[in-house]
Parts: sequence; C-alpha cells; structure tokens
Amino acid sequence: MPLRAADAVGTLGTDADRPLTGEWSEARILRWLREDDEPRLATLWQAADTVRRRTVGDPVHLRGLIEVSNHCARTCAYCGINARNTALRRYRMNHAEIMASAQQAVGLGCGTVVMQAGEDDGIRADWLADAIRAIKAEYGLAVTLSLGERLVDELAGWREAGADRYLLRFETSDAALYARIHPPRAGRTCDRFAILGTLRALGYEVGSGVMVGIPGQRYESLARDIRLFAELDLDMIGVGPFVPHPATPLGGAADAADATMDQVPNTAAMACKVVALARLVRPDANIPSTTALATIDRVGGYAAGLRCGANVVMPNVTPAEYRRCYEIYPAKVCLHDEFTATRAALEERLGRLGRYIATGPGHRLRGC
Ligand code: SAM
Repeated sequence: MPLRAADAVGTLGTDADRPLTGEWSEARILRWLREDDEPRLATLWQAADTVRRRTVGDPVHLRGLIEVSNHCARTCAYCGINARNTALRRYRMNHAEIMASAQQAVGLGCGTVVMQAGEDDGIRADWLADAIRAIKAEYGLAVTLSLGERLVDELAGWREAGADRYLLRFETSDAALYARIHPPRAGRTCDRFAILGTLRALGYEVGSGVMVGIPGQRYESLARDIRLFAELDLDMIGVGPFVPHPATPLGGAADAADATMDQVPNTAAMACKVVALARLVRPDANIPSTTALATIDRVGGYAAGLRCGANVVMPNVTPAEYRRCYEIYPAKVCLHDEFTATRAALEERLGRLGRYIATGPGHRLRGC
C-alpha cells in the first residue's frame, strides 16, 4: 500500500513538539521555513524525497521549454523582459521554428512542450491554436502554456485546440507586495487566483507557484503561499529563487532589502525548503527542479531540487539566438546546454541520482 504523506512525515523526529498527524498548518510550515539546523533539515529533505518516491516515483518527466516570445506588455518589477527594458532585443518565434523546437524536445525524450512567453498580444489566439494543433498532430506531445494573463476566450480556444496545461504563478499571496511588483495593465484587473479558477473550469491541468526571496517577502506570507498550494489543489507547482536583474526596479534590491524586516532570503537552501514542503503538502503534484535554482547554485542546483521532492526538469529547446534574449534574469542556466543536448547525457546525469527519464505525457496521477 502506498505510503501517505502523513506516514512519511510521521518519521520526522524533528517535529517533536506535537504529534505528527500529517496536517500542514501555516504555523508548522513556518517552523520548517525558519529551520536552519542541518541535521534537522536533512530529515525534511528525506521526508519529501520519500513522499516523492512513493507517489510519483523515480521517473523524471522532461518538459521541453520553448520561449516563444520575449515581447511583454507588463511592467513587472522583477522580470528582465518587462516592457520598460528597452535594451533588450525582442523576438517572436515563427511556426516553423516552434515545430523545430518541438521536434528537438521529442529527440531529448520530452513528453511535453511548455510554450512560454511574456504577455504578448502579438501572439494571436488563432495563430497559437494552429501551433498547438500542429504539435499534437505531428508529435503527440502534451502541450503546456505559460503566456500570462490572457483573456478567457483565448484560454478557452487554446484548450479546445488541445492544450493540456497552463502555468501561471501567483508569485506571492501578499497582496500589497504583489501590487508593488506586478502592476496591472491599464484598464484591466489583475487577479491570478481568479484566472487559476477559470483554467480549472476550462479543464486545464493547473500549475502555479512563487518566487522565493522577493525583496519584501516575509516568512509568514511564504508559509501561506505553501498552504495555498494545497488548498488550490495544484497539479503542478513551480518554485524558484528570486534572481535580481539589474535592468529592473528590483535589480540588486535583494542585498539592500530592509534588514529590520522578516525578509525571506533568496537562497538555494530556502528554495529547496519550499520545494520539499510543496511535495509534503501536495504529494501527487508534478514539481520541477527549476532553472532559477540551477542558476543560483550552478553546481548542485538541479540535483538538489530533485533530491528534495522534485520530479520534473525542463530542458530548454528554444533556438540559442532567442534563448539569449529571453533574459528574465541574468546568467540563466539552460539545462539543454549543460547536458550537451543529448538524451544520453540527460540519462547519465539522472542515473547518477538513481533516477531515469519518464515516458509518456506526465499528467498528474491524482491520489497516487
Ligand atoms: N508572462 C508569463 C507569466 O507572467 O506567467 C510567463 C513568463 S514569466 C517570465 C515566467 C516566470 O518567470 C514568472 O512567473 C516568474 O516567477 C519568473 N521570473 C521572472 N523574473 C524572475 C526573476 N528575476 N527571478 C526569478 N524568477 C523570475
């Protein structure tokens, strides 16, 4: 019989202040976020890894990331492709380039492509629907979209065209912080939680998540974010450290963050705590070891994520000339480069962690 998250967590001697019921209150999550004792943290990694193995298992799903466009209408204070960054060369991939990237994803062993972009009105609904249909027909891949806050009709049309999943991070549940870093578009409201509900109603698998260590982010709000992962019943949870981009209002701000406040650090260790807790509160979700984690810990980032609860990695199959321009933060590591672009190299790297490449589309296996 599969072990429930509660059982695995029940082996944690570190939660000794109360019986281990497997219930994840905000207070309990908060205690783990503040935990700095290495031996205790080792038990957290181990508990998350145990739950990961008993639920989604050792296969690692590869999602081929296609950064379709770096045009963006938004002025997010954290993101290097925001509309105010005039130094950036802008691009939008064409249909043939997208298909070539999808083919490359198939060659690597990906069961899914993730089409991601800035909030780009130049990505027309019918044009993208054609691309979705073509990828499904030609390669049979699952299609995930990550295109920001699009209109309901667009989301519905893409679902009808065959898109399987949608990723939209809520970034932080602290409404005041969110308003500061993610100004709404003129004439529109900006409610990512409402859009997540719409996506669910349309039949998408729904992914969301947060950045860890945004300047101004407090421990309490991060604990609430993690509770929300469970309450929203997310199919996919993406968590990465905030990486400052010098051409943004928050560039360099992490160092300058108010030392008097209860600031969450944007460290690899903190990101790993959030990945591990995400696995424990939402045992059957698909959780990537993210590029941002690998960027701030270039040696061990990917492996660390996979060891503390993650079961997905996202090789970047965007053409190199565009990849350089999709600079949401500087010095972004690309799994695809790192792994010398072959399936064998990926297999070898995962094999060293006792893991292997998954087959199939990698939908969420509910209640596994
Ligand atoms: N426009 C879409 C959206 O907003 O969801 C997708 C593209 S956006 C660049 C994808 C994700 O990149 C965001 O959800 C955010 O969490 C992450 N991101 C952007 N800037 C970042 C930064 N400086 N550090 C870490 N992650 C960042």
